[in-house]
Amino acid sequence: MAPPDVVQRIEQLRHLINYHNYRYYVLAQPEISDEEYDLLFRELQQLEQQYPELITPDSPTQRVGAPPAEGFAKARHPEPMLSLDNVTSSEELWAWRERFMKLLPQGTQVSYVVEPKIDGLTVVLHYENGLFTLGATRGDGFVGEDITNNLRTIRSLPLRIPLDPDGPPPPARLVVRGEAYISNADFERFRAEQEKLGHKFTSPRNTAAGALRNLDPKVAASRPLDLFLYHIVVIEGAESPPATQWEALHYLRDLGFPVALDYCRHFDDSEFDALIQYCVDWVNEKDRLPFVVDGLVIKIDELALHDVLGHVGRVPRWAVAFKYPAEQAITRLLDIVVEVGRTGVLTPRAVLEPVFLAGATISSATLHNEDYIIEKDIRIGDMVIIRRAGEVIPQVLGPVKALRTGEEKVWRMPQTCPSCGEPVVRYPGEVAYYCENTACPAQLVRRVAYFASRPAMDIEGFGPKQAKLLCDKGFIKEIADIYTLKAHREELLALEGYGEKKVTNLLNAIEASKQQPVTRVLTAVGIRFVGPIIAQLLLDHFRSIDALAQASEEDLAAIEGVGPRIAQSVRAWFSHPANQRTIARLRSYGLQMALPEEKPEPDALPLAGMTFVITGTLPSWTREEAKAIIQQYGGKVTNSVSRRTSYLLVGENPGSKLQKAQQLGVPTMTEEDLRAMIGLQ
Ligand SMILES: [Zn+2]
Repeated sequence: MAPPDVVQRIEQLRHLINYHNYRYYVLAQPEISDEEYDLLFRELQQLEQQYPELITPDSPTQRVGAPPAEGFAKARHPEPMLSLDNVTSSEELWAWRERFMKLLPQGTQVSYVVEPKIDGLTVVLHYENGLFTLGATRGDGFVGEDITNNLRTIRSLPLRIPLDPDGPPPPARLVVRGEAYISNADFERFRAEQEKLGHKFTSPRNTAAGALRNLDPKVAASRPLDLFLYHIVVIEGAESPPATQWEALHYLRDLGFPVALDYCRHFDDSEFDALIQYCVDWVNEKDRLPFVVDGLVIKIDELALHDVLGHVGRVPRWAVAFKYPAEQAITRLLDIVVEVGRTGVLTPRAVLEPVFLAGATISSATLHNEDYIIEKDIRIGDMVIIRRAGEVIPQVLGPVKALRTGEEKVWRMPQTCPSCGEPVVRYPGEVAYYCENTACPAQLVRRVAYFASRPAMDIEGFGPKQAKLLCDKGFIKEIADIYTLKAHREELLALEGYGEKKVTNLLNAIEASKQQPVTRVLTAVGIRFVGPIIAQLLLDHFRSIDALAQASEEDLAAIEGVGPRIAQSVRAWFSHPANQRTIARLRSYGLQMALPEEKPEPDALPLAGMTFVITGTLPSWTREEAKAIIQQYGGKVTNSVSRRTSYLLVGENPGSKLQKAQQLGVPTMTEEDLRAMIGLQ
């Protein structure tokens, strides 16, 4: 007995597939990509294989195509238009060969033709005594639509055969199967032209199918349709009908049909290995072809064997389609978890119901960022389409909204870091959230390595390798622990490659780094956007880390060279209690927390605002030295005495300046007086 949720799922899939069949085949307005459609179809096939009792005659898997659209006349095919079994691996190709070989007498001569499987719209063309009389779509495999008038617009379709009067004489009746398509180059041109007119076309295949299934032949005439024929369905009254598929392809070409012979290959059974290699290697060729293909078709060349082998169900035994492994799958999104990268960026990751895809079991995929999840409206519990191309991390392309039950949950980025629990921030113009906690375990190694690096504390012999080792050993749990490493001296000596000299050098270098200027300390703690230059700029203004820590976002943003982004980042960083603890610890170990005391401001100097004139020989200073000292303490020195002169500095043998000063009432002073005034011994 099938579980109820399987029954429900099968019904849901049938409903969906029927709906999309209708959009695709009847309206020629598909809503989902061919890949998405295939995924739904394959899932239904798999479930029905598992629970055959649930197969009903009206299941979409039980018919080959879709019913003819109302409006076209129906055209019954002289023989069912079969579809092919798909294989995706060399093992399956060998298995296919083994299956039909068992049905053939020992020693039967077998060879193969390998043809490209062009991704277009299947067409069936009828010729009576060389005249094109009817063209039909494949429809449901038994009855198609009469699209003769649309097909007539395709210029490569011969309206009479042979095209060349010297070609083979026409058979009394010929029915051929082929594929109508639009080449990549033609499609690109057409798409670009149409886009200017506001029309959107998504793929060559849909564009071709839409045109041929339009009731107005003018639509088909306006599109760059082309054709390849590849299979003789019926041939009557031919002089010497082809005996092999290889001959048939040449015969069709000689009659004037477009045939993809340039892309077809013939292999003997003894070359089956080479045939498989050709199929496998072809994955690299397919994208270089001038048209879209979705695989290769391998056919037994001997047409007589086709009749011998027949078909099983609606699938012939004498041919198989080789497709490249699916790169997309559909599965359930069980949960979204957040991971913290080494740089503190928070990345949402999809937890998936395990699904086999492109050679691996996938249970996890990337979701990029919160905006992506919102934009695609991805919810926990959704059936999602995932893609895996090559070795890259699988990604979630989006939900299949039609499969929603209403139980799905909308997800938003948590506001705290899953690694350390501190609040996370997002900067204007960025999609990512960051954890800026200096002590966040997820970021420890990178933060420690950065702290010790050349632009930061520049600790000799302390690179990323050492950072990783010391963190892994548990000696460093946050960056401030670098300064307690000396407590682990014995354990360090026990590490491989850490001799007495190396450990001593490392610990000495750490000790010496305490003298590094505060600019390096501010750089080293790793505030986002604050490198050495911004650190210098901030400290020129605030002079100490304490003052900087008190600054408001407005104060910070007002500094030239510091934008709102840096201001927000600095403010956010200092408001983390964990970061405040880091600063406190670094201070307690003796690191520099402020710029050194400098000359006070000019108006605080003892001689500020005073003007001096010097006369005579001073006891210990030359004129030049006296001038420099006065200037150093904020005073000015001029050459002549005026009412604005504050003091006349008088030495031995003064000149006329003394007289002038006395006349103007300018006070005089000795070198000793000046020394006392500025506190200089
Ligand atoms: Zn964190």
